[in-house]
Amino acid sequence: MTHHYQQLSPHVIIMHAEHETDRPILAAIAGERRTLLMDAGNSPAHAELFRRELEWRGVRMPEILALTHWHWDHTFGMEAWNLPVVAHEETGRVLSSLQELDWSDSCLTNLVSDGIISEDSAADIRKEYGSRRDIRINQPDILFRDRIEFDLGGVVCELVHVGGDHSADSCILHVREDQVLFLGDALGPSVYGGPRKYTSAAFLKLLSTAYGYNARWYVESHGIPMSGEEFRSDLAGWEKIARAVEVFGHDRERVVGEMKAFLQSDELPKDLLQGIDYFMAAVEPL
Ligand SMILES: [Zn+2]
Repeated sequence: MTHHYQQLSPHVIIMHAEHETDRPILAAIAGERRTLLMDAGNSPAHAELFRRELEWRGVRMPEILALTHWHWDHTFGMEAWNLPVVAHEETGRVLSSLQELDWSDSCLTNLVSDGIISEDSAADIRKEYGSRRDIRINQPDILFRDRIEFDLGGVVCELVHVGGDHSADSCILHVREDQVLFLGDALGPSVYGGPRKYTSAAFLKLLSTAYGYNARWYVESHGIPMSGEEFRSDLAGWEKIARAVEVFGHDRERVVGEMKAFLQSDELPKDLLQGIDYFMAAVEPL
């Protein structure tokens, strides 16, 4: 398996996402004085690959770890870094509730049936860790509520709590001088505790927050970095669905009709059809 790394901007090096076991993007933001790591990786093995790459590139090793949200794929590599961890207070709360678990098959089954994780996550955890799941979850050291800034020397990062459907503790990380906006999974649908869904109002609010940064790079944790222009065109259809559902919420046919007119096509792409279902799933029944 090959691994792909990229110097995205003057201060930012990323390890790209891998979909095999749902490994999200990891990023090191290297300033003149300090290096900040965004997300820990889904396992010590994942963390180790990025650590070695940074070493090989002669990048100053990370000295602080910032988490985008509590989900396993972003946090379970924490132990391997042995760094002070900064996280939203809700991220801290959920991680502490997971601390005593043994991650055995029966434990995973219970977590799925309680809606704490999904069947997909349980399968990915099995695949990433195999049968020996010696998973140790550290507690964040520094908790914040709304936002926190890191002056790394010549580059400032802001970690901002945005919440949303995907996870209530979702944060985004803005690398100010490089105009890079890491969105974590904030723009994703809810994935745990019931069918996937999007709330149009929450989605539109997040989107306007993201657009407001006017970033050069937009980076979703499980995607490929996009330029500002690519990001806008990638999200245009989703924004349109959210607006159509806000107006015609209970009328799926009408929403589909609006989307066909918007795309000037009689056939909607599969991902947008699925998107319509996610948005419809959050509409209160009449
Ligand atoms: Zn997530």
